[in-house]
Amino acid sequence: MPEGPAFAAQGVYQFHHAHRVPQERDTTRALRTRVRRATGIWVGGPPGLYSFMPPRHLYIHIPFCARRCSYCDFSIAVRATTPVDEYVTALRTEMDGLRGDLDGTILDTVYLGGGTPSRLGGLGIGDVLAAVRDRARIADAPEITIEANPDDVNDMAVAHWVAAGVNRVSLGSQSFDDAALKWMHRTHDASQIGQAVNTLRRGGIDNISLDLIFALPPHLGRSWESDLLRALDLQPAHLSLYGLTVEAQTPIARWADRGVTVQGSEENYEEEFLRAHAMMTAAGYDHYEVSNFARPGMTSRHNSAYWNGASYAGVGPSAHSFDGASRRWNVSAYSEWIRRLGVGQTVIAGEEKLTDENRVTEDVYLGLRTRRGLTVTQQEVGRVESWEAAGWAVIDEPRKDPRVRLTATGWLRLDGLATDLAAQRGRPLSAA
Ligand code: SF4
Repeated sequence: MPEGPAFAAQGVYQFHHAHRVPQERDTTRALRTRVRRATGIWVGGPPGLYSFMPPRHLYIHIPFCARRCSYCDFSIAVRATTPVDEYVTALRTEMDGLRGDLDGTILDTVYLGGGTPSRLGGLGIGDVLAAVRDRARIADAPEITIEANPDDVNDMAVAHWVAAGVNRVSLGSQSFDDAALKWMHRTHDASQIGQAVNTLRRGGIDNISLDLIFALPPHLGRSWESDLLRALDLQPAHLSLYGLTVEAQTPIARWADRGVTVQGSEENYEEEFLRAHAMMTAAGYDHYEVSNFARPGMTSRHNSAYWNGASYAGVGPSAHSFDGASRRWNVSAYSEWIRRLGVGQTVIAGEEKLTDENRVTEDVYLGLRTRRGLTVTQQEVGRVESWEAAGWAVIDEPRKDPRVRLTATGWLRLDGLATDLAAQRGRPLSAA
């Protein structure tokens, strides 16, 4: 998920997606090359947040998928039959090693991402959450999210998910156009998205997020406006929109190597992003983060924690953790994760301490990518006034406590603007 310098390359941005284009996908292509997805996210926020904090947020990576979608380069394990018992046993073993980290903390959010967590079925999700409750306290009113594919949603599964405490579902929709879904190698068709939403609501889950992908290649003939309208008809609490990008080792990368057009043009990308912003905000959704929209009060508490610099624990293959000062990540391959846990070896593949430079960069990126914006100094106000003049940003309280927030047009330039500001902030540090 997340991307860039050293930390970026390790995927610190944990945007998860449901199949999506990840643990959060970034809307700007340039940014996506910096902030790759993963299961950890870049952490930013006020410098004061960068000290050890017990995690109140738990991410669990469930890597199973029926097949690989054409655009996907996530850490997945393609299995015809999901090895539920093998996975849950290994997860319990890894979580036993985290008891020290989880002792005394109360989890405010738990996020089951993948891969396709819904491939675990009703009982499998129940087993995973039981394993969490055996080892950690969960808050009285938590947000417990699972990512699901529409074709895995049925009354029985939903009943088990609700009984296990799941109260939010991120549904990997991607498009309401059957030809586009087929091109993406999705396992569901458009009609199953609405059916899944109805089934979830009937079972008691109304906090539903949908994912859609824009900037598809023109030869598919998919209407982005029509997809947005179909999504709005379902009145989801939340929507995540991702611009298609071509990642190495994916089917569409191979098609592109053969000369096939696999994504829309830059103009198409910008036009569809801005169209989504206009339609969603007109429908009452808050565009609260570059890729995410929510009805009032329905922002993702889990992802917002990443964007606010909170610490979090991550378990499962490729999961990232952050304790306020350093970040670590697990081995990516499911088979290696299983092997190591089976013989008592650590599954941690790497760890890095955030340097001052990392922190400056992350503060800037995370502030600018969210609606809350970034606090700037009086000196920096002069620098960002040109952004405001160009329509890329607004500056709140320019004379007292200045804060800069990017507009939708500015978000299309997030990478360049953030790099510029981070470089300015980094200079005195480097010179020191
Ligand atoms: S469902 Fe598709 S997009 Fe999601 S993780 Fe699996 S292969 Fe990737």
